[in-house]
Amino acid sequence: MPLGEFELIQKYFSRVSNAPLNIKLGIGDDAALVTVPPDQYLVVAIDTLVSGVHFPVQTSPVDIAYKALAVNLSDMAAMGATPAWFTLALTLPDANERWLGDFATGLFELAQRFHLPLIGGDTTRGPLSVTIQIAGHVPGNMALLRSGACAGDIIYTTGTLGDAAAALRAIQRGDAEISPELLVRLNRPSPRVSVGIALRGIASACIDISDGLLADLGHILEQSGVGASLNIDRVPITTNLQGQEKDPSQRCRFVLNGGDDYELCFTVPPNKLAEVGKIQSSTGVALTPIGRITATTGLRCVDQAGQLVELQDFGFQHFR
Ligand code: ADP
Ligand code: MG
Repeated sequence: MPLGEFELIQKYFSRVSNAPLNIKLGIGDDAALVTVPPDQYLVVAIDTLVSGVHFPVQTSPVDIAYKALAVNLSDMAAMGATPAWFTLALTLPDANERWLGDFATGLFELAQRFHLPLIGGDTTRGPLSVTIQIAGHVPGNMALLRSGACAGDIIYTTGTLGDAAAALRAIQRGDAEISPELLVRLNRPSPRVSVGIALRGIASACIDISDGLLADLGHILEQSGVGASLNIDRVPITTNLQGQEKDPSQRCRFVLNGGDDYELCFTVPPNKLAEVGKIQSSTGVALTPIGRITATTGLRCVDQAGQLVELQDFGFQHFR
């Protein structure tokens, strides 16, 4: 007998966890009830993943769920917010119990790591699509915005860039063997929540890299009314990426243009640079300086020797 909507929610999504104090009512009524700690802002984000658009159709349900929550957690990280709860709108072609079980496994694996309760959602029939809405808290005026970068600030990235784009390209090409380490970066991004929280009061601007370093740094520059000089040889990459992609210009495209890494790009004023090392030690996440904010608008890319790099040579469109 096919699973009804209510049984489905009950069986797979109503996990009674130790609900945090701010959740007055979770799944089961017409809506959830939550409170926000005094003097904090509620930080809200939502992201939809559509099958075949945001993940390859062959992606496992465990990874689909994991990624759908990870990209939302990454938005909280980019704002410097402490994640508080999430809701799930699921559109399914059918109620396949094996699929649902695997989906719930991936979802709650990550949710439990961040002590994040699922407090409601919606379940409908149609082409596979997963929407997660997430909320978090940030103390008044401590949120990390895109608009605060100033000339002289140093630009940093967390972790490494390019792995996810290399994995996606390998899948699209139909490569027989793809490095599992690269696939993990595509399917299970590590949201940098602890770094985002630690950067409150330190970073002048912050964004998560979902559309590629150039595009996302570009948002900071545009919203801050500044420019930047980016040292492309300083952008950290893994040995896995070096092994997978031998062509340096293709690698450069993955690193600068590839989305899906969900690392943070942030800027720090010169008088706060000493804090960055402490945050690296306390979070265990590599924080690498990759450039500098300039008063002159536009993005200049330079190599290790300080020579201007023409991005058109790498197949990039002219970048403002
Ligand atoms: P309504 O018709 O009032 O919108 P629903 O039947 O859609 O109620 O949902 C009943 C309850 O189950 C609600 O509390 C809702 O938040 C929750 N719910 C529905 N779908 C999901 C889901 N995919 N994940 C988590 N909770 C869900
Ligand atoms: Mg509903």
